[in-house]
Amino acid sequence: MSVLVYAENTGGQFKKSVYELVSYGKAIADLLKTNLSVVSIGNVSNENLATLGKYGAAKVLNCANEKFKDFNSQAFASIISNAATSENANVVIISNSFAGKGLAPRVAIKLKASFAAGATELPAIGDSFIAKTGAYSGKAFANVQLTSAMKVISLNPNSYKVVESGGTAEVVAFDVAINENEFKSTVNEIVRATDKISLPDAELVVSGGRGLKGPENWGMIEEMANLLGAATACSKPVSDADWRPHSEHVGQTGIAISPNLYLAVGISGAIQHLAGVSSSKCIVVINKDAEAPFFKAADYGIVGDAFEVVPKLIEALKKFKAAHN
Ligand SMILES: Cc1cc2nc3c(=O)[nH]c(=O)nc-3n(C[C@H](O)[C@H](O)[C@H](O)COP(=O)(O)OP(=O)(O)OC[C@H]3O[C@@H](n4cnc5c(N)ncnc54)[C@H](O)[C@@H]3O)c2cc1C
Repeated sequence: MSVLVYAENTGGQFKKSVYELVSYGKAIADLLKTNLSVVSIGNVSNENLATLGKYGAAKVLNCANEKFKDFNSQAFASIISNAATSENANVVIISNSFAGKGLAPRVAIKLKASFAAGATELPAIGDSFIAKTGAYSGKAFANVQLTSAMKVISLNPNSYKVVESGGTAEVVAFDVAINENEFKSTVNEIVRATDKISLPDAELVVSGGRGLKGPENWGMIEEMANLLGAATACSKPVSDADWRPHSEHVGQTGIAISPNLYLAVGISGAIQHLAGVSSSKCIVVINKDAEAPFFKAADYGIVGDAFEVVPKLIEALKKFKAAHN
């Protein structure tokens, strides 16, 4: 019995969500009084792999075969399920990232496992696991009971803290013979839309809505995001009107995010918008209408004109940064 985490990499590097995932896996392994192994697929340096020991991995299986340098959902699911079998794992943890959303259900089917998608905290562990997950596009929570011996959990990014528990991981080579049928669909090229902070992974997000009147007014949103080291997002009508790219649209029909801070400027807080942002840890709303529904979901609210409030916030941030640099 052990716990296995799949550590996804981007160009050979791990994002913070991987350290969250490994810390989460370590906490479950501790509760089960067992070990944590990690499987990595693709070209990650041994040095980077060994750092996963800091977050609790006892062993890292390194599947560095050139054939797997590009993401392939079917083949990667086979590798992860093979790694689970080889490690005698009974719990497999995968990020509920864009890639993870396709991978985790495939792994669960291959392992004949029960599956909780989009967990937001550690499961309650007894005879079975009860995992709290988001439901109905984040409008509710579900307590999902996992009763089979094999369990697969996908964890929402930004849901669990990074915990350094010390230790070094043993890195071992891991190769799997994958059936050619698994490569029927392949990724030929990845073209990045932008080199800005990726929205699904961002810890801080500054978002604008129709209250900003037009694309020419986004300079202050971008300036505030730059000062905070945040990603930018927008409401659906804003991207529908081509004021901002569709890759920034958050909500029920856009990207669902759960950053530590969501700062919403000139957004009314329609239920379809909240569906994608309500699991943010802290929501700050700036709106000139005190009756805007978003204030009901906000942790902090400023009733005021964005064109007066945001420049003042920018000035305050600049002063703060100058004083603390
Ligand atoms: C099936 C379906 C799916 C949908 N999916 C999504 C989705 O995924 N994401 C999404 O966002 N929407 C979605 N919508 C649309 C959603 O219902 C709302 O229409 C939309 O979120 C409103 O966008 P908004 O808040 O930017 O604009 P508005 O509703 O026009 O609100 C603008 C806000 O700005 C405030 N404001 C105006 N001027 C200022 C100022 N100077 N300073 C400060 N505040 C100001 C106003 O008081 C108002 O609250 C969906 C709708 C449907 C029917």
